[in-house]
Amino acid sequence: MDKLNNNLDRSWIDKFNKPFVISGPCSAESEKQVLDIAKKLNQSYINVFRAGIWKPRTKPGNFEGVGEDGLIWLNKVKKYTGLMVSTEIANAEHVELCISYDIDILWIGARSTTSPFVVQEIAESLEHDNNKRIILIKNPIHPDIELWMGALERLYEKGIRKLGLIHRGFFSYKSLKYRNNPNWDILLHIKKILPRIPIICDPSHICGNRDHIFDVSTQSIKNFKCDGLMIETHCDPDNAWSDSKQQIHPNHLLNFLKKIQNNEFEYKKEIDSLRILIDELDENVISILSKRMEISKKLGVLKKKLNINTLQPNRWKLIMENYIEIGKNFGISKELIENIFNVLHKESIKIQNKIRE
Ligand code: PEP
Ligand code: MN
Repeated sequence: MDKLNNNLDRSWIDKFNKPFVISGPCSAESEKQVLDIAKKLNQSYINVFRAGIWKPRTKPGNFEGVGEDGLIWLNKVKKYTGLMVSTEIANAEHVELCISYDIDILWIGARSTTSPFVVQEIAESLEHDNNKRIILIKNPIHPDIELWMGALERLYEKGIRKLGLIHRGFFSYKSLKYRNNPNWDILLHIKKILPRIPIICDPSHICGNRDHIFDVSTQSIKNFKCDGLMIETHCDPDNAWSDSKQQIHPNHLLNFLKKIQNNEFEYKKEIDSLRILIDELDENVISILSKRMEISKKLGVLKKKLNINTLQPNRWKLIMENYIEIGKNFGISKELIENIFNVLHKESIKIQNKIRE
């Protein structure tokens, strides 16, 4: 990793003011839509125009992108605005087409980073492009740092040096606040092992709606020292063909960037950064607790049906011993484990007794 870190070419991002900003629609929809957004974004705060033209949708039957036509539109954006242009690639054919249309920045999406086969194919197809393009790698859907670093290494091994990472958050079973939970702790770890890797935060895919986009952006830049932002914009966000809930109007973004560049936001100190990390973990604990209580309710219904006692003291004793042992391995005291799980157990019994009433 040291070698990779030392050999990274950061010149593409270091020549710009921070934050380095990539913006544009989730998906290219028509030439007019693309050019209308690009005209709005043609400002000094924005460095790169983005638009997805091959869209990896979770389920079939949704809009899957306009394909090659979108590359022609991106080229027009480049010609009219001078902005660099970027899109998502997921196979060798996409790479070839992007090279032929001279797209400046290619990113590997979260679903593709998950597959070593896909990443390897992309790395090989870029091998002979002589580092003309910048390649950004989104984090895989699940918080598997090794898989993310593995993707980076596959590209590095093929001689690619203009590299960067995009933090777009991680899938979680249940999250009230975010579509994909941010994980600043992982970013801090990556910054430790690869201090020179450019990191871009994608608050649009983290938030999944418009509510916290600017909070997450500010945190990523001010507290966690990300190099840049990727934010989805659309002139008619509610009617966007994909990710309509999270896209914002370009004017809205420009207003925010003006403020962030003029340092109008309260600088959050180290203590606040640690609080953000704690809040993030506590929110995860709450989400897991809710899942636990749901299962406990189902168990209560079943116990009633089978006429089994709610309280099973022997089972609980064994479970507690097991938890204490697991806690010990994680450096958590017996006392804390007993306190927490006794409270949880009492709550479960209460819920299950209510079901019996
Ligand atoms: C996107 O950037 O529009 C996209 C599909 O992102 P992700 O890979 O993060 O889901
Ligand atoms: Mn999107």
